[in-house]
Amino acid sequence: MASSTKASTEALANSSSDFDAIIVGAGFSGMYMLNSLRDRLGLSARVFEAGDGVGGTWYWNRYPGARCDSDSYVYCYTFDKQLLQEWEWSERYPGQLEILRYLNHVADRFDLKRDIQFGTRVSAATFDEKRNRWEVRTDKGDVVTGRYFIAAVGSLSATNLPKFKGLESFKGKWYHTSQWPHDGVDFTAKRVGVVGTGATAVQAIPEIAQQAKHLTVFQRTPNFCVPARNGKVDPEVVKSRKADYDGIVERIRNSFFGFELNFIPKSALEATPEEREREFDARWDAGGFGFWLSNYQDMFFVKEANGLCADYLKRKIRATVKDPAVAEKLIPKTYAYGTKRQPLDTNYFETFNKENVLLVDASDAPIEEITPNGIRAGGKEHELDIIVFATGFDALTGPLKNLGIRGRGGQSLAQKWEDGPHTYLGLAIAGFPNLFTITGPQSPSVLSNMPVSIEQHVEWISDCIDHMRKNNFTTIEAAPQAEEQWTAHVAAIVNTTLMRPPSVPLVPRPWEW
Ligand SMILES: Cc1cc2nc3c(=O)[nH]c(=O)nc-3n(C[C@H](O)[C@H](O)[C@H](O)COP(=O)(O)OP(=O)(O)OC[C@H]3O[C@@H](n4cnc5c(N)ncnc54)[C@H](O)[C@@H]3O)c2cc1C
Repeated sequence: MASSTKASTEALANSSSDFDAIIVGAGFSGMYMLNSLRDRLGLSARVFEAGDGVGGTWYWNRYPGARCDSDSYVYCYTFDKQLLQEWEWSERYPGQLEILRYLNHVADRFDLKRDIQFGTRVSAATFDEKRNRWEVRTDKGDVVTGRYFIAAVGSLSATNLPKFKGLESFKGKWYHTSQWPHDGVDFTAKRVGVVGTGATAVQAIPEIAQQAKHLTVFQRTPNFCVPARNGKVDPEVVKSRKADYDGIVERIRNSFFGFELNFIPKSALEATPEEREREFDARWDAGGFGFWLSNYQDMFFVKEANGLCADYLKRKIRATVKDPAVAEKLIPKTYAYGTKRQPLDTNYFETFNKENVLLVDASDAPIEEITPNGIRAGGKEHELDIIVFATGFDALTGPLKNLGIRGRGGQSLAQKWEDGPHTYLGLAIAGFPNLFTITGPQSPSVLSNMPVSIEQHVEWISDCIDHMRKNNFTTIEAAPQAEEQWTAHVAAIVNTTLMRPPSVPLVPRPWEW
């Protein structure tokens, strides 16, 4: 822990224990929530953060190649105009260290660290129905209370490490990408295995392959990827964006996904093959999320339209990967394009042309166990010195269930969500008064450019609390009926898309409603 965060944490541990608000998490969400409640509304607030510094995602995920996929000019706070003008991003997509520097800059600029207790994990939060206050406990023995309890725990902060048989017997070293050592890992002359091929692995694999003696990639589900095309941004573009931030903020807040991207208002099936190829090429050449989020408007809804986009990307994989058998393994075949988060890559598919890289595909060689010397998959032992688990997160519900939340009548959130999440707007939960969840399940969350969704939630929560105080309301709580309606509404939208579960029939497309 840095000396400044350590000093503030020690001072906080011995100070007051009753607050207007308790906030959990000091990433983008928790930091802005603190600023908003403390500096805009004048409330007392305490933030608890498990890490030893601010940054959330960007504090923990330090694996090689860790980088944002949102363009930097929109992957930032927009609530302070001066901050937008003074901060300069060095590249189109900022790397982990640069985002962490940015978030530390914000924390210092708004003097946030003095109210954040670092290195402290919230282990229980119980609503006291007599006092209408939340009682919150931590792993360091703190017991504090707050009128409002705000979970700013992130959607992707609970590590998912599958229970592989034999892991404890492995004689080499192993790491999870989301809990990466702060002093890095040296892969020089090592035989490395990477388990997983999601967005994180797509970033890490090309970097590790450059350093390692040999890299074995264990793939369960292949991914469609589009090139990131990272690099310096033309200073004239930077200047004109800075001059137009009011317009940018207006556009990203009113877009589908929090980017300056909108669909082509036409069906892919109506376009001629030449026209389609031109549109696809333009998005491929530009790099970034354009291929995914500003493609033909029926791409997410109509199988045939989606297939045309997918075929283009499959052709690109076949043209890049020299060994046709490896190329076929790298081509997704079991789900529609875009229904899983679309990773951006820099030399991902090219990496499988390297002599020192081997792809092991779980469809014909599933991982059976970790052995003292490596990984056994499909009956063959792959000898390894280092294993990197890029197996992602217990996403969305995981970090909330881990908080040990109990609402009215002692009901636990984990119990309530046994059959999946039920929320109102992804922000509030029936039976859990004065609990707010920033970017909770059933909100746009990870399907959006998250700082935009985070700012919207923080401002909504802050306005709601302000309204309650001005009108002397003690509690606010989602009505069970509103929660049911919202849950049904979210399911109805999903069921119009190719993201719906295979067992659910497709309902009419939105533009036919
Ligand atoms: C590798 C990676 C790349 C990403 N790239 C993008 C991108 O390109 N664009 C995009 O929009 N989003 C991206 N994201 C999503 C990213 O999580 C969000 O953009 C954003 O950083 C979320 O901020 P947050 O504050 O809501 O949550 P987080 O940053 O996850 O912060 C939550 C904090 O809560 C703390 N916490 C959780 N539980 C407890 C507890 N019980 N007690 C105490 N503290 C707790 C955690 O330690 C963590 O620090 C990416 C995520 C990852 C993992």
